[in-house]
Amino acid sequence: MRDVGMKIYIETYGCQMNEYDSRLIASILASDGHGMTRDLGAADVVIVNTCTVRERAEIRVLGRLTHLRGLMRKDAVLGIAGCVAQRMGDRLLRKIPGLSFVVGTEQYWKLPDMIESARIGRAVVAVGTGSGESYDRRPAPDEASLCEFVSVMRGCNNYCSYCIVPYVRGRERSRATSGIVDEVTQLVALGAREVTLIGQNVNSFRDEGRGFAGLLSAVAKVEGLQRIRFATSHPKDLSDELIEVIGSVAKVCEHVHLPVQSGSTEVLAAMNRSYTREQYVALAGRIREGIPGVALTTDIIVGFPGETDEQFRETVSLMNEIRFDSAFMFHYSVREGTRAAEFGDDVPKEVKIARLETIIDLQKRVTSEVNAALIGSNAEVLVEGPSHRNEDLLFGRSRTGKAVVFPGDAGLTGRVVNVEIRSTSAWTLHGGNPLLS
Ligand code: SF4
Repeated sequence: MRDVGMKIYIETYGCQMNEYDSRLIASILASDGHGMTRDLGAADVVIVNTCTVRERAEIRVLGRLTHLRGLMRKDAVLGIAGCVAQRMGDRLLRKIPGLSFVVGTEQYWKLPDMIESARIGRAVVAVGTGSGESYDRRPAPDEASLCEFVSVMRGCNNYCSYCIVPYVRGRERSRATSGIVDEVTQLVALGAREVTLIGQNVNSFRDEGRGFAGLLSAVAKVEGLQRIRFATSHPKDLSDELIEVIGSVAKVCEHVHLPVQSGSTEVLAAMNRSYTREQYVALAGRIREGIPGVALTTDIIVGFPGETDEQFRETVSLMNEIRFDSAFMFHYSVREGTRAAEFGDDVPKEVKIARLETIIDLQKRVTSEVNAALIGSNAEVLVEGPSHRNEDLLFGRSRTGKAVVFPGDAGLTGRVVNVEIRSTSAWTLHGGNPLLS
């Protein structure tokens, strides 16, 4: 007799796709008669959805699993999902005492059966890839927050030499446009007003001849939806058609996250990024020309194997030339299983850290200057609710993705308002009283 009505506790680590997958896992198990709990002590099943993008992230989450085993009820089962599960597979059963199941990124439909086996003491592992699974027809969501993620494609064919993602997320496959539009429609009916379309490389979205630009236009037709964002783009295939759609379709927000990684063409080649510094600069110019007021943000890695002082200075000069609105910045760390792991890690740790500090200081100065230039202008903000830092203020994001706080009544939550920017800091815009738009 199948166990139903179990309490499931899910803990999520890593990227937006993992956030989305945890909701997918919850809806698959809910459609099998189980419910979610945020109380670890009450849980019958504990699932940790994991990230392997950096070694430190993996070590931390493995430690957390061992710790959780000690906190859970003795009769509850513990399972691991996500990219660490995908990368390490059955090795984890030996590594984590009391672990009952290991489920990879393409096997979430199997979870109800896997939990059933685990409950009767049979440990299970399902980490097959190549199934082309895109979870196109996931169970309908039963609740939604104001801002939701919606996966449009999975996997990546780019094989950047430092990146583990293609090995744990598989080759690119896109969902059907109809499945995506249905999901967005369901989320809007449940109260969502903004969706972020996500994928390891959304520009590679393909569905019966329709590309990502066409998908944006299709999603924009959903009644009641107010805003569309997307992440992440790869510079090699961000098309002029996409720039045109972002610049002309009102619901699509003017923010493009475009990881550059390095300002040196030699280092970009070693990273297998498929574009040169000059091509990236030209693309950034076309984006700014085609989308007035667009925010351009990026990712940067310093200390890649072989990176010379001169090549590092090229990254600094590119940051001064492009003046990004903001950036996620990292120093290189070896990822076992990637091609770059064979290059040797020859940039000393102290040099990596010094280079990282240099670009963080630079970006903080540039972001402050870019934000300060907005003082006196109006920002259109989707009110997300009271500010976490100051309950007397409201919080929301501008169309360009910037955090805005301003005075106002919490009853404005979910509304789009216009706010005059009065002052700014590196990370936040401070506004006056809102004007309803
Ligand atoms: S584009 Fe490169 S960095 Fe991004 S997920 Fe694919 S392989 Fe990784």
